[in-house]
Amino acid sequence: DLLISQIAAGEVVERPASALKELLENSLDAGATEVTVQLFQGGVKLVRVADNGAGISGEDLPLALARHATSKIRTLEDLQNVPSLGFRGEALASIASVSRLALVSRSAGDKHAWRIEAEAGRFTPPEPAAFAQGTAVEMRDLYFNTPARRKFLKTEATEFAHCESVFKRIALSRPSVGFTLQHNGTVRSHLRTADARLRIAAVLGDEFSQASVFVDDQAADLRLWGMAALPAYSRSSGDAQYFFVNGRFVRDKLVAHALREAYRDILHLDRHPAFVLFLEINGGGVDVNVHPSKTEVRFRDPRALHQFIFHTVDKALAMPHL
Ligand code: ADP
Ligand code: MG
Repeated sequence: DLLISQIAAGEVVERPASALKELLENSLDAGATEVTVQLFQGGVKLVRVADNGAGISGEDLPLALARHATSKIRTLEDLQNVPSLGFRGEALASIASVSRLALVSRSAGDKHAWRIEAEAGRFTPPEPAAFAQGTAVEMRDLYFNTPARRKFLKTEATEFAHCESVFKRIALSRPSVGFTLQHNGTVRSHLRTADARLRIAAVLGDEFSQASVFVDDQAADLRLWGMAALPAYSRSSGDAQYFFVNGRFVRDKLVAHALREAYRDILHLDRHPAFVLFLEINGGGVDVNVHPSKTEVRFRDPRALHQFIFHTVDKALAMPHL
């Protein structure tokens, strides 16, 4: 029912950027190799994400908008080991309850695309449409039907900045996927398929990659790799802190602490360091099911992880460099 949906939506869709994150994750889950994001007015007027992924068949379109109908979690074991980025089956339903949503999709098996629209939680029946293979989701007029929420949206520039950081995080996490970002009709970022190193340079600039050292180390079930900036870069710029756990952007106090300690130990740096790091943990070493926004995770062995991160980054920063 609509009210329950709107309450749940508050957790998933706090602002345009949180919807954008969900839509981008859906595109990646669908195996897309090209994703285009179009925003208007910081995403408040429009967030459109188009991809060339697997698409949704005409008969499944209404299910995609139904809460939990598509949840990929069936057993407790599934929860331990979530293969896809989305797994609750509530993002599209939540977005549909607080915006005007249109979904156009074509799966390989269908002769043409189908389109479905939803407004304040009510959907139209799917209609034939024209679209190449893949999916486009349009979210218009976020919170048009919940003015109390709309009041909490910030200026266009602020909402765009949030969208841009979501875009950067996702783009950094998937160098093999091409991404384009447009705002108010202007291309703001165009990222070709690349390897991790080139993608990092494309997103954070040559300045970052030239002033960074490589990190790569393994221990038991853990691997940490990526780039960590030396003070030359950290001094000139603000926050460039990207930490991914099994492909998801994560903000974690323990991780931040281990990194800060390594920077302090080697570079005597007390300011915020800059880095793009990817942590891979096998099996049940991490629980991602902590919060719907999923930038938090719970580690099974935080002490061992702290040590591993500290030593790996410490060693990389201590290597002789120019
Ligand atoms: P979840 O991602 O947790 O399953 P969502 O509400 O985000 O839930 O999406 C519901 C379902 O709609 C997905 O499970 C998927 O089957 C389908 N879907 C959504 N977006 C796309 C997309 N871009 N391409 C293909 N299928 C999609
Ligand atoms: Mg999803």
